[in-house]
Amino acid sequence: MTERKHGIVLGGGWAGLLAAHVLARHLESVTVVERDVLPDGPRHRKGSPQARHVHVLWSSGARIVESLLPGMVDRLLDAGARRVGFHQDLVTLTSHGWQHRFPPRQYAIMCTRPFLDWMVRDRILGTGRIALRQRTEILDLVGDAKRVTGVRLRDMDGGAVESLEADLVIDASGRGSRLRHWLSALSLPPLEEDVVDAGIAYATRVYQAPPGAAAGFPAVNVAADHRLREPGRFGVVYPQEDGTWMVTLSCTRGAGLPTQDGDFLPYAETLRHPLVADLISRAEPLTSVAVSRVGANRRLYPERLEGWPEGLLVLGDALAAFNPIYGHGLSAAARAAAALDGELRGSGGAPGATRRAQQAISAVVDDPWIMAASKDVEYVNCRANTTDPRLSGGVAARQRFSDLIADRSIRSSAVCDVVTDVISLTAPQSELASSRFLSLMHKDQVLPELTAPPLTPDELALVDLNPRSTVGVGGS
Ligand SMILES: Cc1cc2nc3c(=O)[nH]c(=O)nc-3n(C[C@H](O)[C@H](O)[C@H](O)COP(=O)(O)OP(=O)(O)OC[C@H]3O[C@@H](n4cnc5c(N)ncnc54)[C@H](O)[C@@H]3O)c2cc1C
Repeated sequence: MTERKHGIVLGGGWAGLLAAHVLARHLESVTVVERDVLPDGPRHRKGSPQARHVHVLWSSGARIVESLLPGMVDRLLDAGARRVGFHQDLVTLTSHGWQHRFPPRQYAIMCTRPFLDWMVRDRILGTGRIALRQRTEILDLVGDAKRVTGVRLRDMDGGAVESLEADLVIDASGRGSRLRHWLSALSLPPLEEDVVDAGIAYATRVYQAPPGAAAGFPAVNVAADHRLREPGRFGVVYPQEDGTWMVTLSCTRGAGLPTQDGDFLPYAETLRHPLVADLISRAEPLTSVAVSRVGANRRLYPERLEGWPEGLLVLGDALAAFNPIYGHGLSAAARAAAALDGELRGSGGAPGATRRAQQAISAVVDDPWIMAASKDVEYVNCRANTTDPRLSGGVAARQRFSDLIADRSIRSSAVCDVVTDVISLTAPQSELASSRFLSLMHKDQVLPELTAPPLTPDELALVDLNPRSTVGVGGS
């Protein structure tokens, strides 16, 4: 695509800025169009409501960010972000019981989303190679069914409307993208879309962790058990860059959520284990509860559209958005940016190059899509409108296999390694069907089931934890 000169990225969020950074390597000029004013610091903004809730960046995404922005991971860690080794630095009650804390194979970066966004944004925009149009709204695409040649924009302060030409337009405008509408205005047939909606909602408060606990106490995750055929309730306590704990309680449709501060602790008591409740009852709340209806797993299939227009790509949540409990959105967007880089490097501006780039970008969302969607369809009250054959027919057999894996993974180190590679998007999901993995499932040593959270005496002392948290439930 070497003769492409100007690229426009629609949306200055995580996916948009990573894509813009990649475009700037290959094109003469790049413009990012963003409705908000992007803060000059780790602050919240209207267009990123999810930033009030916990975010983890899996090691697969972190490695891509590091390759695009060398030194970035150390900068995040030096500024306070926690590197949480899976599963050494995490205490998890999975659907199948307490996870043994095996030596870490992968990790996740834990920090607030405004901090992560700002650190990465500051670095990307600091190169001076990207023009940013803030307080500017995308109205529609310019061009025809064969080729997109630009966008029509509206200045949100003055109201002026203008067209901006581009050789390549990338839609990274998030879950609320109007791409389907824009394409139909260009007389293209409707894009196919899959939706799997378990009705996920999040409620979050930030707490001051007890002294020493933000750095010395493990991250905590208490998950629901989808096999119980009842609405799921989840809770996490994740350390943040500023010595706080971010506590998110979440649920599937029908479980309700605390919307008032006074309801937060009682709700935490209803999780499958009281560990989260015990921790927050020892910590000072710093914020009121923030609630978000998160939205469905939703995936578009641009690669299936026979006449995909030249000069247009879609990535990030605009292409596929997942139940955030699995923590895949940021890493999937990073993988899309890496795929875009590979395509821009390799394919030149030959006819069909955009279509091939879109195929490569769409391919990287398949694993996070199927991981989230296949788990979520199991929850009661889940609403699915999907043609994905993997989500219908044979579901029960697949679920039995995945339950078997989940059961082994919490007690077998080698099985856990492979599963963590897959969950972190480091290895493909197909790895779980490989003969190597199947033989591990049979051969590896299986440790006894844990009947309580695996916390050390030093960790318990750090938070002065009372005994009920350490003599808890087993699995289901
Ligand atoms: C509650 C919650 C928790 C999550 N937790 C995790 C997690 O732990 N780990 C993880 O990896 N992912 C997580 N995610 C997913 C993650 O937040 C998203 O995948 C990620 O933000 C997607 O980035 P994006 O740039 O595609 O979209 P967005 O971040 O939504 O950015 C889109 C941008 O486009 C702008 N925009 C939109 N429309 C227009 C318009 N018409 N004109 C101009 N600008 C426009 C918006 O202002 C915004 O800046 C979570 C999501 C939610 C909702």
